[in-house]
Amino acid sequence: MQLENYIRDIQGFPKEGILFKDITPLLIDPKARKECLEILVSSLKDKKIDKVIGVESRGFFFGMLIAQELNVGFVPVRKPNKLPYDTISASYELEYGSDTLEIHTDAIRKGDRVLIHDDVLATGGTAKAVCELVEQLGGEIVQFNFLMELSFLNGRDKIMGYDIFAAIKY
Ligand code: IMP
Repeated sequence: MQLENYIRDIQGFPKEGILFKDITPLLIDPKARKECLEILVSSLKDKKIDKVIGVESRGFFFGMLIAQELNVGFVPVRKPNKLPYDTISASYELEYGSDTLEIHTDAIRKGDRVLIHDDVLATGGTAKAVCELVEQLGGEIVQFNFLMELSFLNGRDKIMGYDIFAAIKY
């Protein structure tokens, strides 16, 4: 099965000039979804992961499935003012302006072995911000795990030195 066949290109979303990779065809198809999950998890054998982080919002879908499959905790990293308990935050630069992500202070314990999952690695700004959150709480990042990597945007450079896995590369 070619997973790429379940990713739909949307020209001009969310704004002009952007080619958006839409994962909803993959989510809707149980067979493709299962196969995708198997590929993501196959990269994690013997990695002794304690927690899986899913990044709001498309990172929640497979992030939760991976956590379930590994039988470990799931932790949401969210946009500002969405998490109800004590949080720490990290900001990162966008093409225009900046964005912020938050995590609960008790979500990661010192020494936890953490997997960070998101749907897409683009410029790497999001991944770098999540990396800062996890390390500030004393977690150890075992792998950055993505459905897709847009290689031409060089997001890897921002998280150099870490283990990076992507099920599909463009
Ligand atoms: P980055 O911070 O530039 O690496 O962008 C990654 C974030 O933007 C991820 O949280 C993605 O959900 C989102 N993103 C960027 N490009 C796309 C896309 O083509 N499809 C879906 N999400 C995208």
